[in-house]
Amino acid sequence: MAIESRNPLTNVVEKTFEEESDKNIEDKLIKAELAYTKWKNTSFEERSKLMKKAAEVLKKNKEAYANIMTIEMGKAKREGISEIEKCALACEYYAENAEDFLANAPLDVPSGKAYIAHDPMGIVLAIMPWNFPFWQVFRFAGPNLMAGNVGLLKHASNVPQCALAIQEVFQEAGFPKEVFQSLLIGSGKINSLIDDDRVKAVTLTGSEGAGIKVAERAGKNLKKSVLELGGSDPFIVLKDADIEKAAKTAAKARMINNGQSCIAAKRFIIEASIADEFLEVFKAEMQAIKLGDPMSEEFDYGPMASEDFAEDLLKQVSKSVEMGAEIITGGKRPDREGAFFEPTILFKVEPGMPAYEEELFGPVAVVLIAEDEEEAINIANDSRFGLGGSLWTKDIVRGQQIVRKINSGSVYINQLMASHPAVPFGGVKKSGYGRELSHLGIKEFVNQKTVWIA
Ligand code: NDP
Repeated sequence: MAIESRNPLTNVVEKTFEEESDKNIEDKLIKAELAYTKWKNTSFEERSKLMKKAAEVLKKNKEAYANIMTIEMGKAKREGISEIEKCALACEYYAENAEDFLANAPLDVPSGKAYIAHDPMGIVLAIMPWNFPFWQVFRFAGPNLMAGNVGLLKHASNVPQCALAIQEVFQEAGFPKEVFQSLLIGSGKINSLIDDDRVKAVTLTGSEGAGIKVAERAGKNLKKSVLELGGSDPFIVLKDADIEKAAKTAAKARMINNGQSCIAAKRFIIEASIADEFLEVFKAEMQAIKLGDPMSEEFDYGPMASEDFAEDLLKQVSKSVEMGAEIITGGKRPDREGAFFEPTILFKVEPGMPAYEEELFGPVAVVLIAEDEEEAINIANDSRFGLGGSLWTKDIVRGQQIVRKINSGSVYINQLMASHPAVPFGGVKKSGYGRELSHLGIKEFVNQKTVWIA
């Protein structure tokens, strides 16, 4: 894949970049290694000051950064601005909390005194996707730089300007130059980086396929990895739920980032007795969404991130329809320029269809009917993925029992699933392993060292 900014609204290539040479990569590795020897010895106070400065830089430039995202991957600009604000929040959160999270943790031992100390590991390689081009990177960089690690970013090949802008955020904030560096390279150069002894760990947010490759290589090198992969999150509405609120939230949950989110609700599992009522509101909400120029406030969403992604989604929908699925609304690409796809609801989706088995990474909702609560749970768990999910019921006690039966990394009750710096994020099954954010995220790439004094 070429490293280029191609505007999905016009399909015009706005900028192309040469892939970095092996010599450049080596140069950056040498500098990263050198930067680490100093950075690991800085105090939390010093790191925290710089991280707060990074939050300021983000807030000051939020319009400009949102524009880059809109141009490179079609994100609605208002969502881009919120994304940058959230990155700033993550920087502030770790600036405030990293020292506490990584303080020595006392251990209860039969004699003497023991504790866990948290030492940084060194260079961490981050392989990131295009869908939240700033957020995915900051949720890695915030905790890791605060922990004393240094970061090398291999961003997705379609968002090189985001990659460079992120590197500049840290430089403008005053971080030593090589503590965070972007590498403009394709995925073909990943294996040699994972093999390199100077790279101590790797984190990937992306597809299941890329996850398998990276995990395999990291395993071969006995290196720690964290994988945040795809999802097909269930959105379960039980018959005692606030149906209108659930249906309105359902549309938001499916459409966030134009449907291109790993934790977007994708499978809407509705108890049979309330299905008609739910569908009426859900359909109206999806039909009310206005597509157009993502820079303009006039429209809710713009194009998908690329022509190829829109075409892939169309294939999944068309194949499912050929196999018997019904379209309630949408189902096609509008007749206009740009990588657009109509907000879509599919019904009568059965096991074996792409819409049942695969992740739909775009604005397509699958509605599945469950006879009762037990069947709803079974359908929710009938997925290769296990990232997030949400459950709608007025009975909070029962709700908390039900969520324990759902095989996923998180389940939110009566609210839209969204990440937050204070809340652990990650999956089970083919959605990957490890956690980002919160006190768990910052401990993924530190040596949790046991110290026992006689
Ligand atoms: P990809 O897996 O194609 O790309 C993600 C990153 O991995 C890119 O930097 C890409 O580089 C790189 N990559 C691709 N193939 C390989 C490989 N064989 N070895 C090493 N690196 C590789 O995913 P998408 O960009 O298409 O993102 C969408 C996917 O990401 C969806 O499945 C989505 O659910 C998932 N995702 C998961 C999230 C989570 O937190 N769990 C959050 C957001 C998205 P290049 O661009 O150069 O190919």
